[in-house]
Amino acid sequence: MKINDNVIKLDCTKGSYAYAVIGDEGVTLIDTSLPGRGNAIVSELKTYGINLLDIKRILLTHHDIDHIGNAAYFQENCNCEIFISSMDYDYAMGFKKRHGIKKVLGSIMKISIPKSLKQISTDKIGNFSVIPTPGHTPGHTCFQYNDVIFAGDLISSKNGNPTMPPSIMNWNKGKLIGSLQKLSIENVKYICPAHGEPIMVNNNWSDFIKTISNK
Ligand SMILES: [Zn+2]
Repeated sequence: MKINDNVIKLDCTKGSYAYAVIGDEGVTLIDTSLPGRGNAIVSELKTYGINLLDIKRILLTHHDIDHIGNAAYFQENCNCEIFISSMDYDYAMGFKKRHGIKKVLGSIMKISIPKSLKQISTDKIGNFSVIPTPGHTPGHTCFQYNDVIFAGDLISSKNGNPTMPPSIMNWNKGKLIGSLQKLSIENVKYICPAHGEPIMVNNNWSDFIKTISNK
């Protein structure tokens, strides 16, 4: 589904949404969803006239398996650059064990690791702004493109409203709330989470921040 002229929500990745952004610099994917969905993503992109080789880069919001699941697939097939925060790099590469319950999930679900991951070292990647949002994972990162924020697992949504991601999945809830409180939504129209549908920003956001801050 197109969110606007440039942004596509990849419906085939429901459960852990990945998004595609059509920019001057080619196509950027935000996250890659659960392992095994690479071909389905390619087929869906074709319906928008996008070919595999149009994909120039992938921005990963964090190291969880349902986000990096097809990163290796895309790098092998289209040689795109893949970016992740330096704090999450070791987890994505398998150099560090994931936290809590994810340690178990990580040993059950084996995934291919991309050959090369670039560690983010700037606050802009092409036309995307890099927004560090630690909490769900140590190096969780959101990316903003014009009036759209790609939120990964900083936030989930239900019936179009923001909700907290399940506590058991968060590395540090206090830091997560801090990141949410700091997120600047000035001039932002959509916040696109992985779990749940895109949130159209209106009063629901300030109500949500008030609620989580009072808990
Ligand atoms: Zn997730």
